[in-house]
Amino acid sequence: MTIAGTTSLPGTWEQAVAAYESGTAEVGHLPRVLCVEPTDGCNFACTSCVRPEGKAHLLDADDLVRWVDREPGPFRAAPVWVHFSGESLLHPGLSGILAVLRERGVGTMLSTNASRLDHGRAAMLLDSGLSLIVFSLDAARADTFRRIRVGGDFDEVERNVRAFLDLRGDRPAPTTQAQLVLGDQGLDEVWEFLCRWAAEGVDTVQLKRYSTRGGMLGLPTARRGDPALAQARGHTPCLDPWLNVVIRADGTVVPCCADFTGQLVLGSLHQQSLAEIWNGQAARALRTAHATGTDLPELCARCTDARTPAERDAVVRFAGLPVDEAELAELIAEYPRHLLFDLREVDL
Ligand code: SF4
Repeated sequence: MTIAGTTSLPGTWEQAVAAYESGTAEVGHLPRVLCVEPTDGCNFACTSCVRPEGKAHLLDADDLVRWVDREPGPFRAAPVWVHFSGESLLHPGLSGILAVLRERGVGTMLSTNASRLDHGRAAMLLDSGLSLIVFSLDAARADTFRRIRVGGDFDEVERNVRAFLDLRGDRPAPTTQAQLVLGDQGLDEVWEFLCRWAAEGVDTVQLKRYSTRGGMLGLPTARRGDPALAQARGHTPCLDPWLNVVIRADGTVVPCCADFTGQLVLGSLHQQSLAEIWNGQAARALRTAHATGTDLPELCARCTDARTPAERDAVVRFAGLPVDEAELAELIAEYPRHLLFDLREVDL
């Protein structure tokens, strides 16, 4: 599949930034695929999430085969998150979806709430070719977990993650990550979280900044980190409409990870190719809105997650843990982005 003057290869970061800076509505490069969503259903009702309304959708692996074979380049541009608004392990055919992607040279990563991470699924994921698995945990204490990750069982989730780590043993892949979204946990609990999972043997621990999902969620009280999150975005254009797409379980395509509720649908892969959607009327209108600062969709106007070229490295990486809580507080205040503590080959 080609579009005027291009190959089927996705654009580079530099091409996307150049088109963004010139405010071009119709672009000559293809997007990279950021996420392929197996399902938008979830068994949790976390306070940091906006649930899409209606019945959950399940991605059809045969559809995925057609989409990847038709336009493989955008899928292979970078490892794809096999995850978006739902809990991927609820999809009964997840192993088939991962196989489709692996067999077509698409790198994969996955984030899970770990509630369904039983022995069988753990073994499947270990053999699936994933390069990274993220355990989305958000708490080190049962009472905090119950309050934030509504519907989850703290002890079960921790038990499942420990069992996964045991089963993985010293395999080099996937990289494992314990993740905490910075909300209203106290600093002492965030520190406890880091130390707990470092001791349990995960490869990395990430502290992730809170997303309001395009202003759909309020800010948690007493949060730390990015003060800009408390403000509207103003008219700074967002890079995402020039850079990437998310493929939802129902085949619709949205431009970014903030759009959990499908307010910015650019088209559907059931009706159009990715190239057609990428330069279709909805995508062009979204780019023009961002370039001019006029007629911004409400989601974008209130968004606290807009990406700019300066945010290329949105994850700040450290080798090892902070030395103590005081240093952790300084890091959180200094870097209002995702903080990743890489514990591999570090003598803790
Ligand atoms: S401004 Fe926010 S909602 Fe709009 S495209 Fe960017 S990330 Fe998505």
